[in-house]
Amino acid sequence: MKVTVFGGGREVGRSGFEIRGESTKVILDYGVMIREDRPVFPLSTHARDLDGLIITHAHLDHSGGAPIFYVTENPRVFMTSTTKELTDILIKDLLHLSSYFLPYEALELRTMIERNEDIGNTARIGNAEVEFYNSGHIPGSINVLLRLDGKKVWYSGDFNTIDTVLLRAGVVPDTEMDFAIIESTYATVDHPPREESEKRLIEVLNDVVEGGGLALIPAFSVGRSQEILCVLQKHNFKYSIAIDGMSRVATKLIASAPETVRNPELLKKAMSRAKWVAGQKDRDKVLNKPGVVITSSGMLTGGASVYYMEKIRNRSRDCVVLVSFQIPGTPGRVLLDEGVYGPPGEKRKVKCRVEWIDFSSHCGKTELMKVVKSLKGNPKILCVHGEPISCTSFAEQIRQETGLEAYAPSLGDSFTI
Ligand SMILES: [Zn+2]
Ligand SMILES: [Zn+2]
Repeated sequence: MKVTVFGGGREVGRSGFEIRGESTKVILDYGVMIREDRPVFPLSTHARDLDGLIITHAHLDHSGGAPIFYVTENPRVFMTSTTKELTDILIKDLLHLSSYFLPYEALELRTMIERNEDIGNTARIGNAEVEFYNSGHIPGSINVLLRLDGKKVWYSGDFNTIDTVLLRAGVVPDTEMDFAIIESTYATVDHPPREESEKRLIEVLNDVVEGGGLALIPAFSVGRSQEILCVLQKHNFKYSIAIDGMSRVATKLIASAPETVRNPELLKKAMSRAKWVAGQKDRDKVLNKPGVVITSSGMLTGGASVYYMEKIRNRSRDCVVLVSFQIPGTPGRVLLDEGVYGPPGEKRKVKCRVEWIDFSSHCGKTELMKVVKSLKGNPKILCVHGEPISCTSFAEQIRQETGLEAYAPSLGDSFTI
């Protein structure tokens, strides 16, 4: 059996892996990385001899390239029903907003969505027996154990092994394995305890609102927006909460699949007391009253969060509370590092307050090592989906602490098992 890295080797943004057995070919994830003005896809491969495509979760860095396979062929595809629904809205949004060329259109997306076989616990794809486990990352997310030609491969996808307010912790398959492909997003840092982040968020928000200000929380539409809503409800946050942009659509969709969240009642309560921003009038109201607004995108790259940011940037009583990882080069990261915001060449110091609070949905350094040490068998390990330094130092740490073979592969690298 051969595993090839199509994307996600020493990078985050276009995960894609090919598993090729004697007579079976499976692709695990096929994402898209949005680089400034152009999309970057994983390495290309024929759809003709593809037995199936598995998408671990809806984030575009795992799903956004997949419709390419439907331009000429119609391969089998496996997503949980929640991932299917969320992928549909996220890719539609990408198609709608893209000013650049995408190599597929709405038709290919629709073909893929219609072709999907909703994931249960197992599936047979060609000669591969596949098992799926909760990965604790976003609603609908799974990790994958694949048995093929007498070997077992585990792919973590994006993975979180601690309970959050929104989701139950991810599960590692309890079986001997030969090969493991593991994400490395936070392989060099630990997250603060979750309770601490929650408390800090409530403190900051109380402070801003009691000072007469508006707190803008830019959050990923899928996962983070619902997590923040639930955190505010859990702590009985008593001031006005508005929700806008794609976050609204994703929240309604997730609430309609209560089995994907840890406490559906809490989410329902949070939703019923939030104000659902429906148009410009509502936005004006939100902007002119103390309170909180949760909206996508999480890194201020587009969507309603950009609209609010423009309005509050010079208002010293207001605050932008970043709660997502800020990829270097994004407006959110530049704001955080330099305190400036605006179009390229016209960035100016902002007067509003800027905060960043860690609400990650990925394992931190300690949890990742725990996962590795819990794996049964003596699997060879690929450290992927991370900045180069995260992947290489994770592989080094695994070699030193466990004696397992571990690599930080580059794009195009193949491994034979
Ligand atoms: Zn993800
Ligand atoms: Zn990812």
